[in-house]
Parts: sequence; C-alpha cells; structure tokens
Amino acid sequence: MAKLEESPRSLPGERSMQGPRGGGTGPGLSPVGSRTLLICTFILAVAWGQMNFTGDQVLRVLAKDEKQLSLLRDLEGLKPQKVDFWRGPARPSLPVDMRVPFSELHDVKDYLKSHNLVYTVMIKDIQVLLDEERDAMARSRRLERSTSGFSYSSYHTLEEIYNWIDSFTAEHSNLVSKIRIGNSFENRSILVLKFSTGGSNRRAVWIDTGIHSREWITHATGIWISNKIVSAYGKDHVLKKILNAMDIFIEIVTNPDGFAFTHSMNRLWRKNKSSRPGISCIGVDLNRNWKTGFGGNGSNKNPCSETYRGPAPQSEPEVSAIVEFITGHGNFKALVSIHSYSQMVMYPYGHSLEPVPNHEELFNLAKDTVKALHKVHGTEYTFGSISTTLYTASGITVDWAYDSGIKYAFSFELRDTGQYGFLLPASQIVPTAQETWMAIRTIMKHVLRHPY
Ligand SMILES: [Zn+2]
Repeated sequence: MAKLEESPRSLPGERSMQGPRGGGTGPGLSPVGSRTLLICTFILAVAWGQMNFTGDQVLRVLAKDEKQLSLLRDLEGLKPQKVDFWRGPARPSLPVDMRVPFSELHDVKDYLKSHNLVYTVMIKDIQVLLDEERDAMARSRRLERSTSGFSYSSYHTLEEIYNWIDSFTAEHSNLVSKIRIGNSFENRSILVLKFSTGGSNRRAVWIDTGIHSREWITHATGIWISNKIVSAYGKDHVLKKILNAMDIFIEIVTNPDGFAFTHSMNRLWRKNKSSRPGISCIGVDLNRNWKTGFGGNGSNKNPCSETYRGPAPQSEPEVSAIVEFITGHGNFKALVSIHSYSQMVMYPYGHSLEPVPNHEELFNLAKDTVKALHKVHGTEYTFGSISTTLYTASGITVDWAYDSGIKYAFSFELRDTGQYGFLLPASQIVPTAQETWMAIRTIMKHVLRHPY
C-alpha cells in the first residue's frame, strides 16, 4: 500500500477536481451543484487530512493455477506499494482481492487482460464506502451524545473505545478489570480486559482483536463480546461454569497506533507505526513479528511490504507486551486471535505444513466451532490449519502461542468474503459478533472440559 511518507498521493480530493471520475457525484446534481460539492469535499478532506480513495477499486481474480498465482505475485514487484492485496495470492481455490489506486487501474487491468487473468470488480469506488462509513459514525455519535449511551452496533475511534473501557469496567467492577500491559511505539496504553470471578492465577483464555488495524469489525466484535460476557454471566450456565473455573482476557485494540491512524489518516492501514533510522517505510506487520518461525515463508524482509516482519522477533512493543504478559501469567490454555476477512476458523501451524500433535482434536473442535457459528445466522465458514486452509505465514501469533504451550490456539477471519472486505457496514457488527461469540464459547467450553 502507498505510504504517505515516501510516495505522496495527490492531495486528498485533488483528483476529484480534475474532471469526471468513476463514481463521482450522485445523479441529479447540476454541474454547478456538483462542482460546489466537490469543492466542499475537497475542503473537508484537506481539513481532515485524510487519504482519499476516490475511484480506487478492489479487483478480484480467480487464478486457475500456480502460474497465474505467480503472475499476480509479480504485480507486487511491478507496482511496488501500489497494489494492496486484501486477500493475497495463496492457492488457486482462493480468490485474490486487491485494491488498485485509480491512477494504476488502467495499467493493472491491462496487465491482467494481457495474461488472461479474469477479474471482476468487487468494489467500484472505495471512497463511496468510506463516506458511508464516516456518515454512519457521525450519526451514531450524535445519538450516543444525546442519550449518553454507547452503541454496540457502530464503529468507534480509539478514544471512544478507551472511554468505553473506563466506564464499562467501572460499571461491572465485580467481574471486569482493566490492565495496562505496556505501551505502543507511539506511547499509547495497551489495555486488556480481565473477566474474573475470583481465584488466583486460574486457567485463562486469551482473545485479541485488531492486531491489523484496518480490520475494524474485529474491534467492534471484541467490544460486543465483552458486553455479552457481563450480561450473559448470570443467565448462561455454560458461561457461568467457564467463568467459575477460568479467567478471560480480551485485548480489544491490539495495535493502538495503527488503529488511531486508520481514523486520522489512512483507513486502510494494516501495520503498526514503528519507524527506525535509515528506513523510510513505516510499520511492522504485527502478525509476522512473533518468534515461532520468524523470518520464514509468508513474511517479508522489505520494510515497505505490508507483511514486513520487523528487524527481529518481538521487536515491536505491541507484540512483546503480550509475550511478557502471557508468559508471566503462565496459565493460559487457549488463545483466539481475531482477524478479518474471509470467514475462516484456523489453527496452527501457519509457518509449516507439518500437522501439530493434537491436529485431530483441533480439527474436530474447529468443525464444532464453525457449526455453532453457522447456527446463529447461517454464515458459512471454512476451517483447517492455517498453512493448508489459507497460506503459509511465519512469525504469527497462534504459532507462537502453540509453541509456548497453549494447545488450543485459533485464528479467526471474520465476515465477509469480499463484498465489502475491510469496509464491512456497521449494520453487520451485531450479527457478526453474535455468531463469533457462539464460536468462542464453543472453544471455551471444550477447554473447560479438557483441563491440561
Ligand atoms: Zn489480519
């Protein structure tokens, strides 16, 4: 993806001033009205300082074979930091989704056609979805202010989430507390919610959301689930048993700097925000920075890559904070690391095709998990080990967790399968969270009944 620091795009809105554009303004506007609207958009965009994605598209390619996949991989080198893979080239059975900036669309489409790579346009104009998302947030914010409430069906900024954490933990202090496990590269607090009914150093379950900052549905799901735990504790006898034996820890904003940046500047930012002398590109992929398999296939040593692994294992404060916390605790039995999108439930390994010792148990548990999820709204998930279901990825959270002795380690990819991708409308937050909760509850129930 383009980095502001070194490949400055045209000023936000500037391209819209240059004439007719795909998407453009809505029907029924007079030329004067449309020009006024463009100028207003321009002024607002400049004031907000946010990157504008007008005319950028998400293209989907279904590669027929390995050769076509490698032609897609070549695009990364041919158009460095221009083509942003939302679903990277993995295997012929999986679609490849890529965001292509308006300025590159012609070239990229030509390239695809010349290699007989058939594509469809999944998202015609990214900025249209971004504008809708921003409007929905503004509407919800007005409503929240007038009712002094918190909407679980809306997306929120980092500040709003941290404020919610304070009032949520204050309101439910019998069950939830807030722990600061470290500070981010830009010195923001890294917070974890602890759900506990007492005891000391009980068996524990870890859930993290938002390690990739643009995956907004995951933070929203983490928030909804946190609220579900306190509201269901008295009614759900399985949850009660779980919480009477185990503690649940949820890290909602696992990449606070990246998340703040998705609101202030670039909605599609994935990595953290660390910088190092002599390196012009910003950010490390926090899901490639873990010790297990560090530096292997499916991670990148180029700092400008979206899957840049960082200079060393756990070089990033956001990763080392978790490692220290989980290791220091010493009694974590399950870990669920939540991403989007693709609708998958997966388990280790990612860095190797080798099956883990309890592969069969994890396979069956993943199957039950997906079944429980499906029951809620009929959403179809696939499941399996990461390396065989998705792709080889090295230095990832769940591989580290597994090799650190947490034998129930899962990675989720939430909704959807690509219609909206990372820009899932807020109307899908609650249903996504409801089904994800049933999936996590299935895993926790199994862990409860299989102490080790
Ligand atoms: Zn992710």
